Amino acid sequence: MSDTQPNFSTIPSLDRILKTPEGAILIETSGRVPTVAALRGLLEEARAAMVDGKTVDISEAAITQSAAIQLALAAAPSLKRVFNLTGTVLHTNLGRAPLAEEAITAMADAARGASNLEFDLATGKRGDRDVHVENLLCELTGAEAATVVNNNAGAVLLLLNALALRKEVPVSRGELVEIGGTFRIPDIMSRAGAKLIEVGTTNRTHPKDFEDALSARTGLIMKVHASNYMVQGFTASVAEDKLAEIAHGGNVPFAVDLGAGALVNLERWGLPHEPTPRETIAAGADIVTFSGDKLLGGPQAGLIVGRKDLISKLKKNPLKRALRCDKATLAALAATLKLYRDPDRLAERLPTLSRLARTAIKIRDDAEAVRGDMANALGHEFDVSVSDCAGQIGSGALPIETLASAALTITPIATRGRGAALKRLSARLRAMPVPVIGRVQGDALWLDMRCLDDIEGFRAQLLKQGSQ
Ligand SMILES: *Cc1c(COP(=O)(O)O)cnc(C)c1O
Repeated sequence: MSDTQPNFSTIPSLDRILKTPEGAILIETSGRVPTVAALRGLLEEARAAMVDGKTVDISEAAITQSAAIQLALAAAPSLKRVFNLTGTVLHTNLGRAPLAEEAITAMADAARGASNLEFDLATGKRGDRDVHVENLLCELTGAEAATVVNNNAGAVLLLLNALALRKEVPVSRGELVEIGGTFRIPDIMSRAGAKLIEVGTTNRTHPKDFEDALSARTGLIMKVHASNYMVQGFTASVAEDKLAEIAHGGNVPFAVDLGAGALVNLERWGLPHEPTPRETIAAGADIVTFSGDKLLGGPQAGLIVGRKDLISKLKKNPLKRALRCDKATLAALAATLKLYRDPDRLAERLPTLSRLARTAIKIRDDAEAVRGDMANALGHEFDVSVSDCAGQIGSGALPIETLASAALTITPIATRGRGAALKRLSARLRAMPVPVIGRVQGDALWLDMRCLDDIEGFRAQLLKQGSQ
């Protein structure tokens, strides 16, 4: 402690700072209330620092500059764009499917003003929000009717509650999946008020297991796409057409949760086959649920297609009201579905599909194109190379299939403390204006270039880093 009192009179007053040209600019860009709050906080900090005997720059210029930085940070959005270079195309934590331009435009139009969301323009009466997507979904899946909710977890909840409340639902033990987070089939089943009847074993389930489980208490038979794992080896499961036959023999519906739900056969683009809603309905399913933002490449939504009488029960259920989609979602979904009417141009227009269909050769070219910029930005502590790698689709679609791809592999030159160096490097890339997200594997940080959509923006950001 010094004996002399700090001289607070040297601190500029709030009023005086606000009247400087810099203060006026802060008010102009950030508003008076946030500017005053930021400056007040900084002046208090300066006073406290002086009491502690610290030397502080209390010039008006220094204080307005600190305030400008604080205000800019506070104004930056929390939810922002990132470069997904994880190698997982449909990354749930990174927002899954990027939307097509057509969907983005439709979404913005719907968001901007009033719309005929639930208003029948022909009659002037109240309408149903499903009409904006129902015909399209029927056309694309061969179903009689369709409805849409907030996500596929909601779709399964609604389906079970509407069709199997206080009833039994036999499901194979091999399909009692946990999707990630808190979506587990047994939990959703009990929350929906249905009673799960486990049939068969983890690796083998036979038609007789389902036949034995069927009773007057059965509400429906359900099949769940084992999205994120695979039972291999000595296995048996009951085919969909057989399950449909058993369900119909017992006079109950057969429901299938498809999960990722590709709307078209992906083999056309050199990808593995994933069951489509159309095939599932053709095999005898009465009702099928799938996600909007997985392989379909649209907004987050839970799509339900199937028999008209069953869909109309779902539409009348109060949970449908609780789980319904917003107008922007419906607009984006309708625009995305329309792209499927023209499969020949789908891979150009649907970003999810164009990413999945990109060849390793093309990805390697992009990796080569940015390698030098990355090496310059990171300096001499790192080696930056281009390596072959294996990516994945993600979101539970085709879990064991990999996508041949190429990555920038960044390896710390010093062999000591590599783990820590990789952690620091990952943090540094995450702190960039558009954060870069990769994955650490072995001795390197891997940046899979399959989903690099804005190569110019990526390079420009690296050039800025390098010049710092
Ligand atoms: C992904 C998935 C869900 C959950 O879908 P969301 O759209 O994420 O709610 C449910 N069931 C299966 C089989 C899935 O693969």
